[in-house]
Amino acid sequence: MVKKITLLGATGSIGVQTADIIREHPHEFKLVGFSAGKNMDITRNLIAEFKPEIVCVQRKEDAKDLAAEYPAVAIVSGAEGLIDIAVYEADILVNAVLGSVGLEPTLEAIKLGRTIAIANKETLVTAGHLVMESAKQFGAAILPVDSEHSALFQALNGEKKDQASRLILTASGGSFRDLTREQLKNVTVQDALNHPNWSMGSKITIDSATMVNKGLEVIEAHILFDFAYADIDVVLHRESIIHSMVEFQDTSVMAQLGTPDMRVPIQYALSYPDRLPREQAKRLNLAEIGKLNFQEMDYTRFRALQLAFDAGVAGGTMTTVLNAANEQAVALFLNEEIKFLEIEEMIERAMDQHEVIATPDLETILHVDAETRKSVKNMLK
Ligand code: MG
Repeated sequence: MVKKITLLGATGSIGVQTADIIREHPHEFKLVGFSAGKNMDITRNLIAEFKPEIVCVQRKEDAKDLAAEYPAVAIVSGAEGLIDIAVYEADILVNAVLGSVGLEPTLEAIKLGRTIAIANKETLVTAGHLVMESAKQFGAAILPVDSEHSALFQALNGEKKDQASRLILTASGGSFRDLTREQLKNVTVQDALNHPNWSMGSKITIDSATMVNKGLEVIEAHILFDFAYADIDVVLHRESIIHSMVEFQDTSVMAQLGTPDMRVPIQYALSYPDRLPREQAKRLNLAEIGKLNFQEMDYTRFRALQLAFDAGVAGGTMTTVLNAANEQAVALFLNEEIKFLEIEEMIERAMDQHEVIATPDLETILHVDAETRKSVKNMLK
């Protein structure tokens, strides 16, 4: 049976690679709907190639043009359009949008019991308890797409969770892993956008350089797999070959390995519980690699990772603040309005200023998110 796929965020890095997987397996998957941002060239190409039934673009003007060009396709736009895609009849919704805009569409799809392949970590970090609770209530499966969480998911497959003692996330260290804090003071946007192992979008590449990305992933792991923060570790692993590990109570450690290629975890989320061949993909050759390196995480050097653990332990709205402050600060850095280290300074200040609300509802979360962005912008003055 062909699985119908809807995709939020088709023009981003994960979205493009999701399209690669669908293209590689035309007898397994069909792209029935997607959302794109403002890139109309990519959008037109995707419509021509996949012949979807529904498409969402960001701007109303673009939607008008497309509707005239493709009368057979339902064209929607804006934040409401994202929800139209999310609730459209499909077997799997891939959420690959950037930032917390992915939250409401995800919650709507969960209400319909949809299987969600989630690459949008901000959704889980911002409102993880709402997502997981309603997924339980409506019987919706949440499948990880992030390479680390896919690795943890695979390592936990068929095991009894209460016999697993620790999650160990690996971190490549990002583009500045060999720089001291002193050297970080004057790094530029261009320096930061140069990731050694993975090719990704600019927001997540900055997040890798600050290590906020790993922090968001720690929170995501806590939410997805329900492990206490004290039982989640991060180890530096430069090569990104081991994508993460689970330690069990008998001291056995299960790791998932592979060449760094996001299409592998994306495909696994789409094909789960099956595995599909990837004829063209590069296979892991450990003899060729020769050596894997590991190093203890330095939480003073990677301050933002410590902040993420602190936010996670504080719980409630604090992870919303961490995420919103980071999104706003990264936008300012990409715009060259602040320096690199100010990203984590702004996150820390936003967290210091915030009083945690323990089990926030959606309205509270959206309010805290908006207020945090505002207060970070105000820090500029
Ligand atoms: Mg990752």
